[in-house]
Amino acid sequence: MTAHEHVPVLIVGAGGAGLSLSLLLQQQGVSSMLIERRSDVSWHPRARNLNFRTLEVFRGLGLTSEIHAASEPVSRLFGRERLASTDQKELLDPASLLDATPFSPEPLLRYCPQSRTEPVLLDAARARGVDVRYNTELGPFTQDEQCVTATVIDRATGQSYVVDADYLVGADGAHSRVRETLAIPTHGQGILDEHYVFIYARAAWNQLVRGYESDAFLIDNPDVRGIFIIAERTWGCSWSPITHHKTKMPRPSPSSAPGS
Ligand SMILES: Cc1cc2nc3c(=O)[nH]c(=O)nc-3n(C[C@H](O)[C@H](O)[C@H](O)COP(=O)(O)OP(=O)(O)OC[C@H]3O[C@@H](n4cnc5c(N)ncnc54)[C@H](O)[C@@H]3O)c2cc1C
Repeated sequence: MTAHEHVPVLIVGAGGAGLSLSLLLQQQGVSSMLIERRSDVSWHPRARNLNFRTLEVFRGLGLTSEIHAASEPVSRLFGRERLASTDQKELLDPASLLDATPFSPEPLLRYCPQSRTEPVLLDAARARGVDVRYNTELGPFTQDEQCVTATVIDRATGQSYVVDADYLVGADGAHSRVRETLAIPTHGQGILDEHYVFIYARAAWNQLVRGYESDAFLIDNPDVRGIFIIAERTWGCSWSPITHHKTKMPRPSPSSAPGS
């Protein structure tokens, strides 16, 4: 019989929640194994702004300088008719909503997309001895009075092995296998009747939004209504709501996207 690995805590999912938890446990002297089915950190920006409470948690982990170096002032929202338009209107500056100075050493918000937060947290986790395994997926698991017994799959080789853990933590996102397996219900409104399509494309978008690289743009004209952001460098991302099966996508013209 193959020997089982034993860990105090098995964390499933290396998004912001799983990576942060691994560091918080390590700070308390609790070892964990963190498994992630992706092969690497997320390059999608996804969660873009960190609020002051999250910044305080990272401060408590001794990561203030790393997070501030990776981040920028909070992302604002501007309205333009087309991405190439020179006229724009500021629609939202979240920093102006509240002054956090009286109650926090951190600003209200910082622009630090998940594609930047995850590498900072991963570097810290590995440097502090957390056992982080990418390309590694949680398979079936059971629990008894003693421990959780989980099958873990190495996606690179297809081989699986068994990990025994005192605790299993499902940090595996919105469609959590851990939560579904344990039939843990959710509360609230359930699935919202709102659907969006996200498109990532590489072009010299930054020439059209120079000086506003961390901001978002609501593109609104008779053909299109959707948000555009720069994902990282020349990767741009557009997203639009899909309504009544009728999809309207931002369509930057070839002449308005230099280098495309
Ligand atoms: C396209 C998109 C845009 C978004 N934009 C914003 C935004 O602008 N602002 C904002 O605040 N939020 C945004 N979000 C939401 C934000 O990304 C989530 O709230 C946040 O990522 C939740 O963090 P998490 O760590 O709980 O989960 P996740 O970041 O989803 O991490 C869960 C991880 O678990 C892994 N995983 C799942 N199942 C398994 C398994 N069986 N074995 C191993 N690993 C597994 C997944 O690969 C994933 O990496 C966006 C999300 C998406 C998808």
